[in-house]
Amino acid sequence: MQNITIAIDGFSSTGKSTIAKQLANQLGYIYVDTGAMYRAVTLYALENGYINEDNFDVNNFVMQLHNINLSFQFNKDLGFSEMYLNNKNVEKEIRTMKVSGFVSAVAAVPEVRYQLVKQQQEMGKGKGIVMDGRDIGTVVFPDAELKLFMTASAQIRAQRRYDELIGRGDEVNFDEVLRNVKERDYIDSNRDDSPLVKADDAIEIDNSNLTLDEQFQKIMNLVKITLENQE
Ligand code: C5P
Repeated sequence: MQNITIAIDGFSSTGKSTIAKQLANQLGYIYVDTGAMYRAVTLYALENGYINEDNFDVNNFVMQLHNINLSFQFNKDLGFSEMYLNNKNVEKEIRTMKVSGFVSAVAAVPEVRYQLVKQQQEMGKGKGIVMDGRDIGTVVFPDAELKLFMTASAQIRAQRRYDELIGRGDEVNFDEVLRNVKERDYIDSNRDDSPLVKADDAIEIDNSNLTLDEQFQKIMNLVKITLENQE
């Protein structure tokens, strides 16, 4: 059977990575979480003092981009790949509220996007890939055979994110998480370079009222139809 490219875009905390991992496992495809790449670049900017609450030294930061090496390494106990920044596992650090608070500003920088999109296109050139993000169906793989656009209400998304953060022991408050979800949606949708928009040929999935299993069945059906259409 021919391999395809599955592009999953959508707002923050719509469960893109959950469904992407499920699909990749089921199909034996590679899974790439592009949000992790933007988060790792943001962590670098924070750790090296290029960005803080008052200032973002964009010019000097973009001159440092060649010093940032990103890679994914498969963790067989977890069943998915973890993000490495300059050979250090940063999977936990990149998911903090601190990184979430700065990532959309960093992701709006055209030079950052240019570098990361190039790497993402390279990873997907053999197809057999599920990639999630904000611009996958519009910019990274405009020819993807299957494009999904995930949505859910901001309240539900914030609750899921809050549960996830609390579940791993972080101290956060719900309003702060809700504010961050809304703020990232706004910046991601309104930036000049590759704003978050639904590709014309993407299928919208509102999972506000779907269980994980219902969502998986629904999307696997779409995958099957897409694969049959390739034959
Ligand atoms: O997917 P996740 O919420 O981890 O992504 C973090 C942030 O990275 C997003 O809010 C967005 O600003 C940025 N991003 C992006 N383009 C992508 C993936 C993520 O701009 N393809």
